[in-house]
Amino acid sequence: MKYYKKSTLFLSKENDNIICLACQRKCLIKNKASGACGVRINIDGQLYVPWGYFSSLNIDPIEKKPLYHFLPGSKTLSFGMYGCNFFCLYCQNWQISQIKNNEINLSKNFYKYKDITPVDFHKIMIENDIMIAVSTYNEPTVTIEWAYDIFSNLKMKNINFKTGFISNGYLSKEAFDFILPVLDFIKIDIKVFNYHKFNKLTGANFDLFLDSVKYITSKYIHVEFVNLIVEEFNDDEKDFNLMVDFILSISNEIPLHLTAFHPDYNMLDKKNTSPLVIEKLIDIARKKGLKYVYGGNYISSYSDTLCPSCGKVIIQRGYMSVIKNDVYINNSKGFCPYCKYEVYGVWC
Ligand code: SF4
Repeated sequence: MKYYKKSTLFLSKENDNIICLACQRKCLIKNKASGACGVRINIDGQLYVPWGYFSSLNIDPIEKKPLYHFLPGSKTLSFGMYGCNFFCLYCQNWQISQIKNNEINLSKNFYKYKDITPVDFHKIMIENDIMIAVSTYNEPTVTIEWAYDIFSNLKMKNINFKTGFISNGYLSKEAFDFILPVLDFIKIDIKVFNYHKFNKLTGANFDLFLDSVKYITSKYIHVEFVNLIVEEFNDDEKDFNLMVDFILSISNEIPLHLTAFHPDYNMLDKKNTSPLVIEKLIDIARKKGLKYVYGGNYISSYSDTLCPSCGKVIIQRGYMSVIKNDVYINNSKGFCPYCKYEVYGVWC
C-alpha cells in the first residue's frame, strides 16, 4: 500500500462497512471497495487514502488559480493527485480527476506520477523561493490527508508559509474542521446556481453544496469564488442573480471571478464564451453590490481591481499576472492609496 495511508475521517459500521466523512457525499463504502471519488478505499473496516505522490506539480502565479486578493503577484507551488467527488462534464483536468482506483496503475499512468514526501515538498519550496503551497488540479477534498501533511510540515518549519485549496467546496464539516488549522485560503467553484443543472453537471447535491459554503464562509479564512460561464448553460440571468444574492447574503467583500469556458471533455457541444457575455454579468453583479467582480481566462481591464470607494484602479493585471499593485499596506491591512478605503484581502 505504498501510495495510501490510514485516515481517521470515517465512521465504522457493521460488517466492516465504513462511512467516509471527507465530503458531503458521505459514501457508505463496503470492504475492498472505494467511494464515489474512486480513490478512498475500505480495507477490512479501515479507510485508506492517497498519500506520497503527485500527478502534477507546477510553479504557478497565484493569479492563475484565480486568486486576486491573496498576496498578488506571488508564486505558488501547486500540486495535484488523482480523483474527484464531482464528475463535471466540462472538467479541464479530467485525465487526473476522473481516474478511479481500479484505473490507477501508478507504474504507467497517463499523467506521470512522482513519489514525494512532505520533506521533499518543503525542499522544493525553499529551492524555488516559494511561500505558498496549493492543493489543486484534482479536488483537494478527496486527498485532504495528504494536503494536511504537506501543509502542517511547512507551517512547522516556518509559520509564514501560506496554504490553500482550489476546491469545488463540497467538503463536509468534519473535513473542513480537520484542514482549517493549516489552511489560509480556499477558492470555491460555484458551478451553476440551479438545483437541477448543478446535479446534472456535477452529480452532486446543490443544497448540500450551499450548506458547505455557508459553513466554510462562517470561519476565519480567506475566500474567493469562481463561476465558469458557459453560454446557454449557466449564463441565465435569473440563476445568476440568485447566485449574486447568495454571495451578498454572506458578504459583499468576497471576490467573484467569472471565467470564460472553452469546450473540453464531455462538453464539446458548447462554444467558447464571449467576453461580452462575461462583462454583461460582471456589470449585473457590480450593480447589485458585490465589490470585487472579475473576468478571467481572457485579457481585459475586467481583471483589474478597482477601489470600491473612489473607483480608481489599484491593481492592474495582465494575463494571470500583476502589472502594477498600488495597494497601500498598514498594520497588515491593505488600503486604496488614493482614498484610504480598506480593501478585502491578505496583502503581506
Ligand atoms: S471523499 Fe466523498 S466521494 Fe470520496 S469516498 Fe469520501 S465521501 Fe465518498
